Amino acid sequence: MVRDRTVTVFDTTLRDGEQTPGVAFTLDAKIKIAKQLDKLGVDVIEAGFPAASKGEFEAVRKIANLGLNSKVCALARIVKEDMNAALDSNADMVHIFISTSKIQIEHTIKKSRDEIVQMAVDAVEYIKDHGRICMFSAMDATRTEMDYLKKIYCAVEEAGVDIVNVPDTVGVATPFKFYDMINELKSCLNVPIDVHCHNDFGLAVANTYAAVLAGASEVQVTINGIGERAGNAALEEVVMILHSIEGIRTNIKTEELVNTSRLVERLSGIRLPPNKPIVGANAFSHESGIHAHGVLKDARTFEPGVITPEMVGHRRRIVIGKHAGRHQIKKILEDAGYHVDEEKLTKIMDKVKELGDKGKKVTDLDLFTIAEVVLGELKKEEKAIIVDEITVLTGNKITPTAVINAEVEGRRKVTSAIGLGPVDAALKAVKKLAGESIKVNLTEFRMDAISGGSDALAEVYVTVEDDEGHSFTAKAAGEDIVMASTDAIIHAVNYLMLMRKKDKS
Ligand code: MN
Repeated sequence: MVRDRTVTVFDTTLRDGEQTPGVAFTLDAKIKIAKQLDKLGVDVIEAGFPAASKGEFEAVRKIANLGLNSKVCALARIVKEDMNAALDSNADMVHIFISTSKIQIEHTIKKSRDEIVQMAVDAVEYIKDHGRICMFSAMDATRTEMDYLKKIYCAVEEAGVDIVNVPDTVGVATPFKFYDMINELKSCLNVPIDVHCHNDFGLAVANTYAAVLAGASEVQVTINGIGERAGNAALEEVVMILHSIEGIRTNIKTEELVNTSRLVERLSGIRLPPNKPIVGANAFSHESGIHAHGVLKDARTFEPGVITPEMVGHRRRIVIGKHAGRHQIKKILEDAGYHVDEEKLTKIMDKVKELGDKGKKVTDLDLFTIAEVVLGELKKEEKAIIVDEITVLTGNKITPTAVINAEVEGRRKVTSAIGLGPVDAALKAVKKLAGESIKVNLTEFRMDAISGGSDALAEVYVTVEDDEGHSFTAKAAGEDIVMASTDAIIHAVNYLMLMRKKDKS
């Protein structure tokens, strides 16, 4: 097996990935994903199946015309209508397929085997006559007799196909058998071989890896392994196995893996389990104790060593118990570059303990977020609005309402406001509190959950602008998203009011 080589990556997140039960990407989502896949460095983006619908055709055409570095591929059955739609979509590459297994031929095609070979040859010639790159797939290859498989692949090779794909359509391959299969095909074909594996038995990545060792030069994968039924081989896992364990190159910029995974997670709505390799929340997490202690000294003690969180754009997490001591917390903060005085440290400790008492596992990322918020707080004398009490109500039978009791520039004020949602109501109440002295608008609102689960610490970012052109982005964190949002808005407004005071003095 030659290790000194580059395996090309064919991503089918937008085609097979979209066949995940319950997933339908909007056009806008497809374009966002395509741009991110291009940034990640995939060689080919399979953008869709143009003959499927008008919307699908439009999506492939838009992606093909984005001018990406990745080649754009369109899928087509071996029928003129499908192939014409793929060609019209302006894709660089057309991926044609036909069933070759006995069971599928008998139930879906009802043609003789020789007729199928001839159809495949004609289709390859048709695509090549139109000057496009052509990939041919013998659908259900792993349940097709080897002699017939060789016959059809050799025939399309002779017809000028650029690459052949060997799909394990129903996910029944196993690594040693698949290795042998690719090895045998490799011995009689000169065109590059690509593989497409499904995860019905949890072997998609293992089979893809085995195929590469047997000489396959391209892998069909999806981000997060999404796809029909149990999904496809996960891009991030296959790529990191090749890079980190085998030393086989790909053109993937691995530090974009986590970003890409998060984007697809968000846009597909398919949540990642925390223990998902490479990109899962726990992929580089350690519970405090012997492991965490070792990892803080040298990550290689309890991590594979050939892969670091930085390589894949991840962050290492240490779970901090609520019994963590003051010194331990100070040390973790200092190592991460946060300089806190004793007063701020007490505030941070109080928040960590408060979360711990509520049963939440505090990670170092939670700790850093708390520290950033505490360090960014204004001093009491700098605050125009000092809040005593906030109540925010929402529900399906009431109008979202916020009531705030606060001291505003030294005077006690109680104000209430209604809004479209709880955050909007809170913003309006804060605006009322600030009164005539400042006109503010919320121009950006963003929320991230740091860890998974309903008890996750939410990080809220708000950008607030005033009528004099000041703008400030404030951050707050808490396990209650409405309170964290309100805190961030009040912090931002306080900051703007301070800016104006400084301008005038
Ligand atoms: Mn598939």
